[in-house]
Amino acid sequence: MHQDTIEETKTDLLIIGGGTAGCMAGIFAKTKKPDLDVLIAEKAHINRSGCLAMGLNAVNAHLADTSPEEYVDYVVGDNYDIARTDLIRSIGERLNRMTAMIDDLGVPLPRDENGSYIARSPRSIVMLGEHIKPLLARAALDKGCRVVNRMPVYRLLLDSSGTRVCGAVAYNIRTGKTVVIRARAVLICTGGASGIYRPSNPGLARTKTWYCPYNAGAGLAMGFRAGAEMTSFEMRFVALRTKDVIAPTGTLVLGTRMPQCNARGEPYIKNKQAMLGRKLTTCERLYFTIEEHRKGTGPCYVDVSSLDAEQYTGLVKNYLNMAPSITLHLLENPAKPHTHIEVCGSEPYINGGHGMAGFWIDESRRTTLPGLYAAGDVAGGAPKKYITGCFAEAEMAVEDILETLSKENPDLDISPESVSRTVSEIVAPLNSEGDITFTEAEDRLQKIMEEYAGGSTQNYATSRDKLLLARTYLTDLSDRSQDISAAGGHELMRAHDTLDRILLARILVEHMLARRETRWPCYHTRLDYPMRNDLEYSVFINSRMSDDTIEVFKRSLEPPFAEMPLEAS
Ligand SMILES: Cc1cc2nc3c(=O)[nH]c(=O)nc-3n(C[C@H](O)[C@H](O)[C@H](O)COP(=O)(O)OP(=O)(O)OC[C@H]3O[C@@H](n4cnc5c(N)ncnc54)[C@H](O)[C@@H]3O)c2cc1C
Repeated sequence: MHQDTIEETKTDLLIIGGGTAGCMAGIFAKTKKPDLDVLIAEKAHINRSGCLAMGLNAVNAHLADTSPEEYVDYVVGDNYDIARTDLIRSIGERLNRMTAMIDDLGVPLPRDENGSYIARSPRSIVMLGEHIKPLLARAALDKGCRVVNRMPVYRLLLDSSGTRVCGAVAYNIRTGKTVVIRARAVLICTGGASGIYRPSNPGLARTKTWYCPYNAGAGLAMGFRAGAEMTSFEMRFVALRTKDVIAPTGTLVLGTRMPQCNARGEPYIKNKQAMLGRKLTTCERLYFTIEEHRKGTGPCYVDVSSLDAEQYTGLVKNYLNMAPSITLHLLENPAKPHTHIEVCGSEPYINGGHGMAGFWIDESRRTTLPGLYAAGDVAGGAPKKYITGCFAEAEMAVEDILETLSKENPDLDISPESVSRTVSEIVAPLNSEGDITFTEAEDRLQKIMEEYAGGSTQNYATSRDKLLLARTYLTDLSDRSQDISAAGGHELMRAHDTLDRILLARILVEHMLARRETRWPCYHTRLDYPMRNDLEYSVFINSRMSDDTIEVFKRSLEPPFAEMPLEAS
């Protein structure tokens, strides 16, 4: 029997997740108010955690040759007219200042002969960002943030009135203690969720996914359980990447300007653009790639056969800053460079940094739960925010937190029953005698989602009848997984990751059922509703937990975002 050893701590600001947004939030908070106590609770180790663990080679949201207004238009247009313009505008106004901040931290940003950053597109510049995460981590520590690594947070705590978030409960894997954290404000920065669909690589390579495999959506799950509202889960994000090693195609296509061709050498992307008379949207580039497979003219490649030796070496070097595994592939035989690099779609993810699935927030990054803020990939409504957008959101959240705390002194009184119930819930897998393990539950989850909820082997498409089966199977899996067992702190974390993913999959399926149209090809393809339906679905699909059930509803696109019921199915 596991003996609970409980540690208690208090802080002014609890940041859950010390990744991109979390570290920067700590830096902002301590810069603006050095005497504020800031605690960053991190599941892994902040030196190399989350999306930035391997490094990056571009700042994807920097307005090199465009304005914040054009950025808003671009994002909304690329997202088929559904996105929160208020959130995107507030990000756009801060992007370039965020780039300057990482420049100051020492992240190398190459410049041209005129001293300007090197643009890859009007909204993207080159960065040599292999070391960006250790630099952010160092700055957060130097500013005086308290950081506890290997301490995943599993649940939020509400005050005695049951309305305001005033802390969280974590489990320190190194000490084996459950940690109750009381906090005057809580900022969630745990990123999006991978591992909901079956990964494209098998066996030991299953964690070679595009999205960080350890971002299991904990923040989304704990927020939802506590009653926070979520938005747009059905707009899944699917990355178009190089096959197997899963490196970015932007580095190839934008970096080398080489064509994307089908198996017969036809430049299908260029041809589609010529046919439509415009640039393709992000999801169309994926959709037309999948179409080549469906027509029997796949797989597809980036044709790099015309790169000379110097350009090829340049490509290898560019990749070294963020995807070292493809450099091994490219240098397999230095005497005989690769001429074609295969591209394919990843498994779908829930993500608010490239896509817009996440917490429903206001402009100050407040969630619908008082005392709880969200920034970065965990926050919904504003796609294409990337690193600089995550930083901007962290700054906006911190500004509001500081202002609120200067006026209010929240009551951190939590009922002892609530604390003890939450602690028991967290350690339950350590005491369970159930015979289901997290690997079994995860395999089952990924099989259900892959086959019934539009996984990559289904060309990302699904339908009402399949989704209804997914709903039934997931409910059953959720019930059976309640007594999931774990031996030790690491397995406990994996068990919670799996339980969180099952909950998020259930929410996702409800969102996919609710949006009866195909708006974002591949991200949300309904075979039974193959067209876009502006009349009924120019809306956000949102959800929240109500009496232990997932309640789904619509919100209008413009402030004050009126709530509307879904039509009966
Ligand atoms: C492969 C890849 C390439 C990208 N390339 C670019 C690029 O070139 N340019 C660009 O601008 N953007 C790029 N992006 C986007 C950008 O990296 C992300 O939008 C951004 O890093 C997300 O920041 P975040 O803080 O929301 O999440 P993360 O940085 O992932 O941070 C989440 C943190 O939360 C921690 N955590 C998770 N669960 C818990 C828990 N239960 N308790 C405590 N801590 C927890 C994680 O360990 C992690 O440290 C890329 C993203 C990916 C995945």
